[in-house]
Amino acid sequence: MTRAIIIGGGLAGGAAAARLAQAGAAPLLLEREVAPHDKICGEFLSVEAGRHLAALGFDVARLGGARIDTMRLHSGTRTAEARLPFVATGITRRTLDAALLDHATAAGAEVRRGVSVRRIEAASAVTSAGDIAGRLMLATGKHELRGQPRDTRGTIDGLIGFKQFFRATPALRRALAGAVEVTVFNGGYAGLQCVEADRVNLCLLVDSGRFRTMGGTWPALFAMLVREPGLAMLADAEALLAKPLTISAVPYGFLVRPAADDPLYRLGDQAAVIPSFCGDGMAMALHGGRLAADMMTAGASPFAYQTRLRGDVARQVRLATALQRFGTTRIGRFALVAGLGAVPAALAALARWTRVEPAAVARAGA
Ligand SMILES: Cc1cc2nc3c(=O)[nH]c(=O)nc-3n(C[C@H](O)[C@H](O)[C@H](O)COP(=O)(O)OP(=O)(O)OC[C@H]3O[C@@H](n4cnc5c(N)ncnc54)[C@H](O)[C@@H]3O)c2cc1C
Repeated sequence: MTRAIIIGGGLAGGAAAARLAQAGAAPLLLEREVAPHDKICGEFLSVEAGRHLAALGFDVARLGGARIDTMRLHSGTRTAEARLPFVATGITRRTLDAALLDHATAAGAEVRRGVSVRRIEAASAVTSAGDIAGRLMLATGKHELRGQPRDTRGTIDGLIGFKQFFRATPALRRALAGAVEVTVFNGGYAGLQCVEADRVNLCLLVDSGRFRTMGGTWPALFAMLVREPGLAMLADAEALLAKPLTISAVPYGFLVRPAADDPLYRLGDQAAVIPSFCGDGMAMALHGGRLAADMMTAGASPFAYQTRLRGDVARQVRLATALQRFGTTRIGRFALVAGLGAVPAALAALARWTRVEPAAVARAGA
């Protein structure tokens, strides 16, 4: 059988590589970064993501992530708190993605780092190391490959993402123990939680227009953020990255349309982008990676795989996108905090509706 070539070594690509290798297929994964690296991500790993990893024989607990079982939602001085309907993990993508690639390698996948795919021609990846032919899986995440733009009509794309790590002092650890703190503010929202080792992750999205009116700089934005009661604990915290990671033009709500003549198996954010507000991007990336590997192994076409994946995630992506639109309006911010305060159990329902259904996860083998 023609070799599977996976473009991109994030969670989607890593899951596909591990799964194909476990099925005896010896895939080749191409990752442009030469070494493990930080990524823009809230690093909130849901229970579904944990299940996918476990089904790949990957033990996430050994990575020492932070346990998270509570969500606190802040809007100005109002706060609502609810138990999550599951235990999540705070774990950096630098650690997690690299460990999954090591896991895939141990299972028999070949992982080539430092190879950038420039474009796709027929059934070949044109790369910085020459042309490589095979059955192609596109898992470049947030990054578009030349000639393979995503159709972003109808998506939310006017947001800028920022991520910074802070030193987890004993006081910050106590304040955050077991919780993800979500602060919704005029023009965006931020998540704050512990991850492994000595780190606290702050990850946020802000409307680009609002960012410009603040002066368009990180110091100005950060000064605004720490005036929010939910984020005031960061006012004197030690930032660990020389400058925050940023990203713009993420097409929240994107869903790939299956096409019968498309030769690519599209995974992760190249197939669907669920808003991070209540979404589950890492679990969806793992789900798509495993599903694509299984369906490719079974001889299914990219079209059949893409149709199945869309069926598994479309409702969740649409609902999370609507929620993100609503939750960032003035009335939405108020309603979310008031609603969660009055009915904490609503969080469980929201979490259930925005996640891949257990039956679909089970179909992908978890
Ligand atoms: C602000 C923000 C916060 C988020 N927070 C969360 C969260 O808390 N929890 C959650 O579950 N999800 C979250 N997500 C979503 C999650 O990060 C993504 O859904 C997930 O990373 C998608 O995985 P992926 O494997 O598709 O892509 P990625 O993780 O982006 O990986 C793609 C890989 O491909 C490589 N690559 C790119 N181009 C090429 C090329 N041309 N050649 C070779 N390699 C290439 C990249 O270097 C990268 O390693 C968040 C997203 C954003 C934007």
